[in-house]
Amino acid sequence: MNFELQKLVRPNIRALEPYSCARDEFKGMEAHVFLDANENPFNDPINRYPDPLQEKLKERLAPFKHVRPSQIFLGNGSDEAIDLVYRIFCNPGKDNVVAISPTYGMYKVCADVNDVEYRSVPLSEDWQIDTKALLKATDAHTKVIWICSPNNPTGNDFPRETIHEVLTSFGGIVVVDEAYSDFSTNQPFRDLLDSYPNLIVLNTFSKAWASAAIRLGMAFASEEIIGLFNKVKYPYNVNLLTQKKALSMLDDITNVENWMVQIRREREHVLPALQEIPIVLKVFPTDANFVLVRVTDANRIYRYLIEQGIVVRNRHRVQQCGNCLRITIGTRQENNELLGALRFYK
Ligand SMILES: *Cc1c(COP(=O)(O)O)cnc(C)c1O
Repeated sequence: MNFELQKLVRPNIRALEPYSCARDEFKGMEAHVFLDANENPFNDPINRYPDPLQEKLKERLAPFKHVRPSQIFLGNGSDEAIDLVYRIFCNPGKDNVVAISPTYGMYKVCADVNDVEYRSVPLSEDWQIDTKALLKATDAHTKVIWICSPNNPTGNDFPRETIHEVLTSFGGIVVVDEAYSDFSTNQPFRDLLDSYPNLIVLNTFSKAWASAAIRLGMAFASEEIIGLFNKVKYPYNVNLLTQKKALSMLDDITNVENWMVQIRREREHVLPALQEIPIVLKVFPTDANFVLVRVTDANRIYRYLIEQGIVVRNRHRVQQCGNCLRITIGTRQENNELLGALRFYK
């Protein structure tokens, strides 16, 4: 498949002259008097605008992710990257995107905000992708296919061959959202950036890195696609405090590694225990830090848990998720409290 990125890009974005900020125009460490950006000289260090391209952070992040710094976009959560995909590629009122269902809700919300048609293709009963149906849903105006793996809310990874097939058969952009891939034993797709010029992989600091509050999302793609992200994003989209905090976390990742081991261990503890509980009808296999369970009466059990001070995610109203609750894996104590409450439910 010969892939022509520029043909997929919205004409107004192709022609866009990006905002040139003060920090872009002056690059070099020699200066010591900064009178270029109308900043206030007091209140160091937060008086200065942050690095618009977060170069230091990308430099540190690249080896962890086995990519080059030029293949990284950093945003205000993955949600910014999701929105940018629409703004870069999809002409409002004209183009469409295709996604699996059920999946992460932000793909649809951002489609609606950008006035882009959102086509969803149901997963099979055991949450697998019907590749034929997915490709059949595309047409000449389909710019993007969204695949979340491990998928939220179902929890499962998709077989690598399935995603390979979509990447090779579809001529547009394929976004693989790997927000939960650190919890899976499958090899991540960002390792394949050099083989697929149409691939965008999403990662986040919100899950395995336990830093949802700092709002730091990542997109990995070809240099050319990352160039488009950089052109369209707000100039200072990742604030200084977030950049600093992420750098300090990268200085010592033993915490992150320990948390991951604990969460995987807890998952092994919680899944079989859930299976033993009579009101739990089905525990879906999971490769993530959460599990989808089908229960006898999701709405009632959800309310009962809230009365016990325990909040889970009620997915009853989601297509194909009737009577399903999505339960995040917590600490041993939190998990035991949940299991105890479910056992006690009448
Ligand atoms: C939680 C989650 C994210 C993370 O979003 P952030 O904006 O980075 O916090 C991305 N994708 C999926 C599928 C998620 O479940």
